[in-house]
Amino acid sequence: MKKISVFMIAATCLMACSQATQVKQAATNGEVLSFNLDGQKVTWIQDNTGLRLMPVQLFVGADSAMIDSLGVRDGVSASMSAFLVQVNGKNLLFDTGMGGNLLRRLDSLGVPPSAIDYLFITHFHGDHIGGMLKGDTVVFPNAQVYAAQLEYDAWVTNAEPGQNAQQINTMKAYEANLHLFNFGDTLPMGVVAIDAKGHTPGHTAFQSGRLLVIGDLMHGAALQLVNPDICASFDADKANSIESRRRLLKYAADNNLVYVGMHLPPLKAEDFK
Ligand SMILES: [Zn+2]
Repeated sequence: MKKISVFMIAATCLMACSQATQVKQAATNGEVLSFNLDGQKVTWIQDNTGLRLMPVQLFVGADSAMIDSLGVRDGVSASMSAFLVQVNGKNLLFDTGMGGNLLRRLDSLGVPPSAIDYLFITHFHGDHIGGMLKGDTVVFPNAQVYAAQLEYDAWVTNAEPGQNAQQINTMKAYEANLHLFNFGDTLPMGVVAIDAKGHTPGHTAFQSGRLLVIGDLMHGAALQLVNPDICASFDADKANSIESRRRLLKYAADNNLVYVGMHLPPLKAEDFK
């Protein structure tokens, strides 16, 4: 494995990307980090502040010996992140965090919210759609928004009375620009929506070239890369979550993809040297 493997171990894929040597020239200011992947500029943007450790108690099936051998007794390194892809003059944003630092950090990249052309949503949890509204106002007024029909139905169409106010209000606010897709659909800019259900009913991974955005497929990568059958307590359907995790990790490996996720550990510039 070349040095790039450190990046894969730290933040993307341990098994999947040993031959992915074309990710180079990462740049960071400590809160965002960009790298080029076959002509796409990919930028990791951390929405949270500082270190985020996930308590090991959240992970079903992680035994004590494993926790100790991995040195994660005090918590598993994670983040709350979104990803910006810039390609062919367009700005594609994948998720929006929960309304933390995303806008300020986008601004540091010279990308105002009005410049986001496409917004792809992996699922409707608040730490992914929370950055879409400020009060009742849309934050990304010019974005065409893409979400899974299954996810929309689970949270909006089939909502119990009085439930899911955030999801309903957010999707209503973006109604004019909202596009619902099915798994397998090819979306604008060649982005493909891939079934990653389990964490939520319509949880989606997105592929853009050799980049695979895996959303919340993993919350504790250090544990779940060793044993993909370990679920976070947040995974609504554990069996589907395990199936999706195993299938997508294999898919990434088989196709030499680089994957990034919303709760993978922060990327570091030295991972690219
Ligand atoms: Zn999440």
